[in-house]
Amino acid sequence: MLVDSHCHLDLPELAGNLNQILDSMQLADVGCAVCIGVTLEDFPRLLSIAETCPRVFATVGVHPENTGVQEPTVDDLVTLAGHPRVIGIGETGLDYYWHKDAPEWQRDRFRTHIRAARAAGKPLVVHNRDATADTLRVLKEEDAGEVGGVLHCFTETWEVAQAALDLGFHISISGIVTFKNAQLVKDVARRVPLDRLLVETDAPYLAPVPFRGKLNQPAYVRKVAEEIARLREVSCEEIARATTDNFFRLFQAAQTVN
Ligand SMILES: [Zn+2]
Ligand SMILES: [Zn+2]
Repeated sequence: MLVDSHCHLDLPELAGNLNQILDSMQLADVGCAVCIGVTLEDFPRLLSIAETCPRVFATVGVHPENTGVQEPTVDDLVTLAGHPRVIGIGETGLDYYWHKDAPEWQRDRFRTHIRAARAAGKPLVVHNRDATADTLRVLKEEDAGEVGGVLHCFTETWEVAQAALDLGFHISISGIVTFKNAQLVKDVARRVPLDRLLVETDAPYLAPVPFRGKLNQPAYVRKVAEEIARLREVSCEEIARATTDNFFRLFQAAQTVN
């Protein structure tokens, strides 16, 4: 069994087809998927999916890219994270690709999420785009390693992966690993210790080969695991077992379903 550790099932492209998507998951032996929060405004809708589908969990957070949305406080996040279907805090982090001026409010929002994760005792789901040095610095300054978490959709170098591993974080590999030119991601997928590796789709985005360019869905996380198995010259079952074990160890609140 596999787990899709990061997807956006609540987006209309997927939410409109939820039954079909859940059936496809079952056929692909993808036992559960984590629906990741990106705004507080959308959170109730996302939580209702996690409440009605036993195979879907939720996280709560405000994505670093989002402006003009409700700014969360530590208390807001801790309260919402108290729900039994909410297993982590995020996605949070830094995104200087869309905000090239590297604004202070992003780092403040990131710190708020880390403090909430520590207070709630639930791990962090971290997004980083073009902001690696600051992401690692803020994680360190806020003692994020105490609660741990995952650097999702990892696309950085092995040196960055090592720094994240040293902080106690997990590395999650997405469908990018199946892209021909993604040598950095393939290299990291080969080298991350098996007990610190997770897999994800980031659906509806980033569909793996052979579905590249199409709508992504949690069932396709199997393609991610198959490519990692090929790169590491092990069986897909071994990757499935390790990443699923890692998932339930990291996201302890999800253990009740297993
Ligand atoms: Zn992200
Ligand atoms: Zn995401």
